Amino acid sequence: MSYDRVALIGLGLIASSMFWAMKRAGMSAHVTGYARSVETRNVARDIGLCDTVCDDLISAVTDADLVVLCLPIGAMGPVMSEIGPYLKPGCTVSDVGSVKRAVIDAVQPHIAEGIHFVPAHPLAGTEHSGPKAGFAALFDSRWCLLTPNGADPVAVSALSVYWQALGAKVDDLDPDHHDLVLAVTSHAPHLIAYTMVGVADDLHRVTNSEVINYSATGFRDFTRIAASDPTMWRDVFLSNKDATLEILGRFTEELFALQRAIRTGDGDLLHDYFTRTRAIRRGIIDAGQDTDAPDFGRTKG
Ligand code: NAP
Repeated sequence: MSYDRVALIGLGLIASSMFWAMKRAGMSAHVTGYARSVETRNVARDIGLCDTVCDDLISAVTDADLVVLCLPIGAMGPVMSEIGPYLKPGCTVSDVGSVKRAVIDAVQPHIAEGIHFVPAHPLAGTEHSGPKAGFAALFDSRWCLLTPNGADPVAVSALSVYWQALGAKVDDLDPDHHDLVLAVTSHAPHLIAYTMVGVADDLHRVTNSEVINYSATGFRDFTRIAASDPTMWRDVFLSNKDATLEILGRFTEELFALQRAIRTGDGDLLHDYFTRTRAIRRGIIDAGQDTDAPDFGRTKG
């Protein structure tokens, strides 16, 4: 089953990348789009993002076979409650939110009989946001995790085929397990990056211009992550509280252990620890999830 009409609600990085990837794949589906601000809708029209940009939510979702919520997590429940009564019977609703349990809790109550809800999370993004940030290759060879939560298998399989056509590899996960895994691989690392950049900003013995001019690659990578969208990340932490706090608790314990090793001069502990973490990096490269090029292939020092 493929979709004849797809509605993208929210026209930022993820929705625009989905649209360009659909066009690259030669999908014939008519794509409608909606964003809450007139500025974003005008930009979308200017750059040809979506076949039709609608000025209201209901027109965007009317007759859609697939509706994808590409919004900050906190906006998904309210938007779903508004569009719920207007969806075509048999329509699939999905989303791209970085947290799954909170999205299911917010969206599922507004899913009527005969509508399928298949939550999804493409593990792909950049620190840029907005309608101009998207590009067709964003999802290439990246995972898109579906958390079907008992949804109709035919609807799940159609969404899986759709994401594969956009370039992604697809897997199914339990929603709570998804949130724990992402707390480890994405949410806690983002919080640590935000903190490290905040520390550098607060440390008045090192000037801002020294931080900017002499930033070594580790810090530069933190600044890239810490430039991510504030609304999106506020919502991620508020909606994946338990898993993020659990991982941060473990992180703090390990940090204290390393702090102690430095203070007591325990070089063996530090060496063993760094050997173990180096092997994890090797595993990510071997799995094709990152480049092996030094400094991610950047040519400037
Ligand atoms: P984005 O570029 O900031 O775009 C967000 C869109 O949502 C904009 O069109 C915005 O409209 C609209 N919006 C914001 N608040 C709204 C509200 N209260 N009601 C209605 N519309 C609202 O965001 P994105 O990066 O595409 O992220 C969208 C979703 O994808 C998030 O749930 C995020 O967790 C998930 N995700 C993001 C990444 C990533 O790296 N960025 C990766 C994977 C998944 P206006 O422009 O009119 O304000």
